[in-house]
Amino acid sequence: MAKKNQSVQAVRGMHDILPEQTPRWQYAENIIKDVLASYCYKEIRLPVVEKTELFKRSIGEVTDIVEKEMYTFDDRNNDSLTLRPEGTAGCLRACLEHGLLHNQVHRLWYMGPMFRHERPQKGRYRQFYQLGVETFGMADPDIDAEIILLTDRLWKKLGIRNKLRLELNTLGTTEERLAYREKLVDYFKQHIELLDEDSLRRLETNPLRILDSKNRDMQALIKNAPELMDYLSEDSLNHFEALIATLDSSGIEYQLNSRLVRGLDYYSKTVFEWVTDDLGAQGTICAGGRYDGLIEQLGGKENYATGFAMGMERLLLLLEQLDDVTVPRSVDVYMIRVGAEAEKVGMCLAEQIRNEVTGIKLQVNCGAGSFKSQFKKADKSGAEFALILGDDEVSRGEISLKPLRTDQQQKNISQSEVIQVLKELI
Ligand code: ATP
Ligand code: MG
Repeated sequence: MAKKNQSVQAVRGMHDILPEQTPRWQYAENIIKDVLASYCYKEIRLPVVEKTELFKRSIGEVTDIVEKEMYTFDDRNNDSLTLRPEGTAGCLRACLEHGLLHNQVHRLWYMGPMFRHERPQKGRYRQFYQLGVETFGMADPDIDAEIILLTDRLWKKLGIRNKLRLELNTLGTTEERLAYREKLVDYFKQHIELLDEDSLRRLETNPLRILDSKNRDMQALIKNAPELMDYLSEDSLNHFEALIATLDSSGIEYQLNSRLVRGLDYYSKTVFEWVTDDLGAQGTICAGGRYDGLIEQLGGKENYATGFAMGMERLLLLLEQLDDVTVPRSVDVYMIRVGAEAEKVGMCLAEQIRNEVTGIKLQVNCGAGSFKSQFKKADKSGAEFALILGDDEVSRGEISLKPLRTDQQQKNISQSEVIQVLKELI
């Protein structure tokens, strides 16, 4: 048992996002929300815990996530519950449960923590945040193109477009994949002595994932494997060609990658990833595609769905590498008050300023202190200006305004004018 006085630490792989980091997160989140709003996507908020069965049925029993990464536990009623490892399953569950999928079209997004029991390393955690986007009810490839264009716009707004490349593939339908799967298994069985341990296991459970192997020794074998593209129906090929045509006419560059199979079972037709070389092994920032079959698999009627998930931590790691990212100030004005009367007047004045000056971030020094010590705090807060109230200012009905980041002089203004002055400055 832990000693009584020893402090309790966070769970391995689960991180606090500290106050000094949150402005950058909020900056990114605000841009994301603005971009989503400009495409008329609506937010959906979902529980972080779902019945274990939901993930088994949707993600697939033999995927890495379900086999070894889920946080599953029995609750007090002995129901098996799981902390969500991803958001698509819960989003679909909610839409089915509330009848949102009947003859309707939806463009949805959510943001929040996901949980996977993986080996923690840079860009890989046990609790991490994702932005998820899902669309329902649209069969044509124009919506596949739209979600890709949306992400492209997002990277541009965040200033990281040149760090990312788009990889694209098509997986066809489940039936087409099954036919291909047989050919692939035949091929790998002919070269069974070349398969590593992981691949031998996957040969029985999920042979397409062998194509995704990072093992160098297997690359030649993988390179010569049959191509899924040769087993696709006309419908699947047309879908892919139409998507490519839209991306071409929109000027979006992409690399076709026939080895891109994704870790989850539920994809069909389009799959894509946005990848960077700047984050080491954890290079995929955003991944998604079409998953038409999943709605039926979860008990709904035949329908259409596309979506993607983006890892917020990996995005933030990329943003940190930029030198010129302008995160908004968290304090505009810091109010210094010295003396009992100044403290009273200052607190009331601060309220009036917040009433009148839209959006101002005004921090009032609380807990007394000399001018000198309050100035130090004002400087540390990052504020652009200090408002200074001492007994002198109070007796004259004035307040001093001091720019903290330029050489401009401090000036006295009347308390009745301060709102107008700040309106012009902020
Ligand atoms: P990877 O191949 O890196 O394990 P994945 O295929 O398991 O990724 P998805 O399930 O498609 O990932 O999740 C979408 C995105 O969520 C990833 O591209 C990544 O940015 C992020 N992500 C996934 N797992 C983690 C994790 N454990 N920690 C941080 N981010 C993650
Ligand atoms: Mg993974």
